[in-house]
Order: sequence, then C-alpha cells, then structure tokens
Amino acid sequence: MRLRVVAIVIVFAVLFATWAFAAEAELPVDRDVLFQVSTIGALLEGVYDGPTTFGELHNHGDFGLGTFNGLDGEMIAFGGDFYQINAQGVANRVPDAWRTPFAAVTFFEADQSLAVDRVRTYEDLQQLITDSLPTPNIAYAIKIMGRFDYVKARSVPKQSKPYRKLAEVVKHQSVFEFRNVEGMIAGFWLPEYMKGVNVAGYHLHFLNQDCTSGGHLLECRVRQAIVEIDCTRSFYMVLPEQADFDAADLRSDKEKELHKVEK
Ligand code: ZN
Repeated sequence: MRLRVVAIVIVFAVLFATWAFAAEAELPVDRDVLFQVSTIGALLEGVYDGPTTFGELHNHGDFGLGTFNGLDGEMIAFGGDFYQINAQGVANRVPDAWRTPFAAVTFFEADQSLAVDRVRTYEDLQQLITDSLPTPNIAYAIKIMGRFDYVKARSVPKQSKPYRKLAEVVKHQSVFEFRNVEGMIAGFWLPEYMKGVNVAGYHLHFLNQDCTSGGHLLECRVRQAIVEIDCTRSFYMVLPEQADFDAADLRSDKEKELHKVEK
C-alpha cells in the first residue's frame, strides 16, 4: 500500500517537472521582443537622463545599442556584454549601476544569415541586407562580424545642463577611422512607421575585435563578413517618468534633424 502511494507521488512529481520544463521552454518566445527605453524624439529634444539602469536592461536583452545619462558616449551590446565608447573613442565595460536615457535591446537569435564579400560602401551593404529582408513591415536586429578594410565611426561628448538639442551636440562629435580591422557591428533595421519612436532604417554601432574602440557607424568598406538577421515581431517601450520627458515637444516631425544626427 505504502509503495503504491510512493509510486503515485513519483508519477505526479515527474508530471509536474515535465509541465514546469515545458512552461520554461516556452519562455524564449519572449526573447524575440525589441525592448526600448524612451524615444529617439525625446533624445533629439535633449532628454539625456533616464531612470533605467543597465542592470535592468540586462533582463531585456543581450544585444543592442543606445547611450548613457548625460549623453556620455555610444553604447553597443552583444553576447550580454555592454560597452560604452566615449568621446575619445575608447571602449569601456558598462557598470550595472549606470543609467540610460535611450536604448534598444533584444536577445539575439539569428533567423537568417548572409555572407558578404568586398562591399565598397555602407550604402551598398545596406542595400544587400535590405534585399534579403523577408518583409519591410517588421523590425530586425542586425549583427555583422568580419573584417573591414575601412570603418568610420563617431561618438559624442558628455553633456552638462542645460542640455542642448542633439543636432547641436553632434556638431562637436568625434570621428574615428579604422583600417584593416576585425570587428562586429550591432544594431537594428526598423520599418518606416517607427519614425519618431526610433530610427527608421539602419542604425548600427561598431566595436573592434579587441573591444577597445568603436562608435556609431558612419561608413564602412567590408572585406568579408557574416551578416546575421533576427526577425523581431514584438515591441515593448518604456517611457521615463520624469518632468523633462513629459515637457518635451514630441509632436513635430523630426526627420530632418534625425538625418543630420545619424550621418
Ligand atoms: Zn547611434
């Protein structure tokens, strides 16, 4: 009799463990979420401080880009490692306690990949990738690893209050050039309809293989690289609860300003 009770308990335990494992196994669906802090429009308006820590951001992605409070450089994340590229072009690991006014991350899992060879310009590279996207109506995380004949990247100097608009700040951006360099590029391609919320089209950041330097990608010439594309059909945006965000004028079309800032 007692044996039978033990057997029933074991059967239930196994069933429960199987169910718990299956429930756990379903979680990766949530990993295909583009998680974003604030909007590009607010960043353009000079909302350069936010409440979200990088410790929190780790829970929502291992890959992506953004910036830091005070607009203190360019952020690039891949494989769960987050880096700051400061105005001197130096890459540093990001402490969990640092905060971001704008960031976009996801858990990167490649859905398709593409080998590219001797691509002369960033524009040509964009065209090659665009031609392989299954639809222009969803978001994609884009990861590129390889050797580059040339990379031009930039970073921005840390700001102090009162903050100027981003279009003013980037007039003082630092530009770095790399030749014959191995490295990786992380970022996103987003559909046109996400304008104002984030950057429509390509927004990519570069980090060299030693993880010592990089920046916001301005130009590149590819020797040989693998482009990986992660289709992302879910979007989660967190807007900061603070006075300067609430007071920012986010109604107008900022496409012209954004164009100046991204190039
Ligand atoms: Zn950027």
